[in-house]
Amino acid sequence: MCGIIGIVGKEAVSDRLVDGLKRMEYRGYDSAGVCTVLDGQLIRRRAEGKLANLVSVLKNDDAAGNIGIAHTRWATHGAPTTSNAHPHATGEVALVHNGIIENFKPLREELSARGRSFESETDTEVVAHLVSEQVEQGKSPEEAVQAVLPALRGAFALAIAFRSHPDMLIGARLGSPLVVGYGDGETFLGSDALALAPLTQKIAYLEEGDWVVITREGAAIFDESNNPVEREVTTSGVSAAAIEKGNYRHFMQKEIFEQPTVVAQTLQSYIRPLEQQVALPQMDFDLRDIKRITIVACGTSYYAGMVAKYWFETFA
Ligand code: GLU
Repeated sequence: MCGIIGIVGKEAVSDRLVDGLKRMEYRGYDSAGVCTVLDGQLIRRRAEGKLANLVSVLKNDDAAGNIGIAHTRWATHGAPTTSNAHPHATGEVALVHNGIIENFKPLREELSARGRSFESETDTEVVAHLVSEQVEQGKSPEEAVQAVLPALRGAFALAIAFRSHPDMLIGARLGSPLVVGYGDGETFLGSDALALAPLTQKIAYLEEGDWVVITREGAAIFDESNNPVEREVTTSGVSAAAIEKGNYRHFMQKEIFEQPTVVAQTLQSYIRPLEQQVALPQMDFDLRDIKRITIVACGTSYYAGMVAKYWFETFA
């Protein structure tokens, strides 16, 4: 699970992009990168390993510009190296990707046969080439994205910057989430509302197959048949504090200390303090009719599932 953030802003974005990546540290990462657009150039900085490495790269060599994209990678295709880190850039575009392009091999072969050379082992880079090819043929960013999306199989959330269009980003999603955040004269893309929490609470969730053009003025969203669509703008209840590490040494320590608050918040929905009652949600089935329960979980949820199994067996 990687993190994506994109900003079309009024002022320099590189610090805010890196802040966004820091807030997504909980997703884990093996490399990270940013790319801004300035004066017809794509300014790209990437680093292998911890985010601190990218921060030092930027310290020596900042990426100026009011528009940019950034990514923390969780490698699926290709080792966690700097050359495999996103954003992937070709002549005309830079892009970040969350997910897997399942048909990247035949696409890569076709692109190579057309004379394009690759600098990474990722599935992602084919998308950068495909979009760039369209732009080089004279298509607008919107037309290029429309032409390329139907060729992609698999799961993706994409944020794409265009060298010659320093006023817009394009996002697209299929199988991986992507949200649009609305700010004051600024617009954002993020892998989830948490990623954008400190920037804005006004969020629209893209639906399967949607793609979106974001500018400083807002967002134009299209469905998979390229029809303009409206997606409800909701106010996200996620606060920046909820996802930041705060004064804790690491996220696990934060989670441990947050347990009383989280348990209280969870129970709050079921407690009627005035009547001193617990009101559990009504179930539309009778537990006595159930003969077998399967709990599917992974990681720490698996341990929680084992405790649940023990309790079910003890009390049922
Ligand atoms: N499949 C892409 C890669 O390996 C994206 C992985 C991700 O979601 O971070 O670079």
